[in-house]
Amino acid sequence: MNICIVGAGATGLVAANELIKKGHKVSVFEAEEQHGGLVKTIDVGDEKLEVFYHHIFTNDVEIVKLIEELNLTSELMWLEPKNSIYINRKLYPFTSPIDLLLFKELSFIDRIRMGLLVFKAKFLKDWSQLENMSSKDWIIKNAGKNVYEKVWGPLLSSKFDYDADKISGTWLWNKFKLRGSTRGKNLSKELLGYMKGSFGVIYDKLAERIINAGGEIHYSSPVDRIEPQEDKTLNVHSNGKTFNFDRVIVTTSPEILSKMNVPFPKEYSEKLSKVKYKANICMVLELSEKLSDYYWTTIAENDFPFVLLIEHTNLVTENEYKSHIIYLSRYLDKKNKFYSLSDEEIQKEFIKYLKIMFPDWNESKIKWVHISRTEYAQPVVVQQYSKILPEINTPVENLYLASMAQIYPEDRGQNYSVRLGKQVQI
Ligand SMILES: Cc1cc2nc3c(=O)[nH]c(=O)nc-3n(C[C@H](O)[C@H](O)[C@H](O)COP(=O)(O)OP(=O)(O)OC[C@H]3O[C@@H](n4cnc5c(N)ncnc54)[C@H](O)[C@@H]3O)c2cc1C
Repeated sequence: MNICIVGAGATGLVAANELIKKGHKVSVFEAEEQHGGLVKTIDVGDEKLEVFYHHIFTNDVEIVKLIEELNLTSELMWLEPKNSIYINRKLYPFTSPIDLLLFKELSFIDRIRMGLLVFKAKFLKDWSQLENMSSKDWIIKNAGKNVYEKVWGPLLSSKFDYDADKISGTWLWNKFKLRGSTRGKNLSKELLGYMKGSFGVIYDKLAERIINAGGEIHYSSPVDRIEPQEDKTLNVHSNGKTFNFDRVIVTTSPEILSKMNVPFPKEYSEKLSKVKYKANICMVLELSEKLSDYYWTTIAENDFPFVLLIEHTNLVTENEYKSHIIYLSRYLDKKNKFYSLSDEEIQKEFIKYLKIMFPDWNESKIKWVHISRTEYAQPVVVQQYSKILPEINTPVENLYLASMAQIYPEDRGQNYSVRLGKQVQI
């Protein structure tokens, strides 16, 4: 069969690779100049670096299998992170259960309740009971208002902006469960995976395999219309040209598919428009000196413009960057005024608050800055999410949707994109 894949991110490239292995002819259309989607990279020193920070967990078995299949296992490193939380203008270590026990921002009882909530999540198997409950209510019920207001409230707002109160308990349960199971028998040790040379090596190898096997990747080729034909084939329009295919798999957000003029029945169109995403602004800073000893710092401060500080070179200590790399990340609604600020304004605002965090630090340590944005960073997993999810098989014959919004009850992540790319086989 002659198959079109819209989007050369993780899902699209994995789907293309699988279909080629089955003997199909595959053409991938990608809006941008490079493949990788949210895992796209830039050059830093003699290395590649993701524009949005990435690591994998020990239970991300699908991507580990893909890495094996691509003969890249020797490039996969398992590294021990040090995490912290910034709250009330102070940085607290937050890596192990002992750190939680020593966390002075909460009373001793609240610390225990917070720990028990994570423990309870790990052993809860039936997530469907949490679908009707918000994360907020689940936390308050199990760990109390104080734990919610001091820690989880600011964190949920930082990820979901003004939709924070609507987030399903399932989403938070899954985060706790996932994080909990990245620790081995020795509860204090967590391991995160990263590829030598960036995750980009996986997607470069997939793209190379697709091309070598006779597939095509059309870069800078946004698809703007998909038109079903009487003979059940589909016409795909891109850059003013029309291409005909037996099957089309769209791997963009449902919202992008909804703008491709496909004559869907009302019920499916409504589903496409109901799934919302949060955007992300991510600033990479190359510094001459390290900022802290931590890899991952969660910012639980309501007034801060960024919600995560990730000191990449504190996890990936062996590297060729020739500098210290940090990411500052902010999730927000694309309608939020902050999203439309210029790069210069964002940089100024982020740096102002970085100086509040580290009063001895100043701009003279900055070698280079790079700002990236995406409108489609994080699906908003509201209560009863399973009811609004659009099906992979769309009502238009031979047209499929495989987007990260359909990953559920797990949350988006490369591992699940690999799983989805394999699942959408036709
Ligand atoms: C800030 C951030 C941090 C993250 N951290 C991690 C992490 O630590 N670990 C992890 O595993 N995952 C992480 N993720 C998630 C991970 O990046 C995604 O789950 C995964 O990359 C999604 O792949 P995808 O192919 O489904 O979607 P995408 O990567 O979004 O790919 C979709 C592709 O479609 C293209 N496209 C869009 N419109 C069109 C069009 N009209 N025509 C043609 N092409 C089009 C896009 O350009 C893009 O290349 C993170 C994501 C973000 C935003």
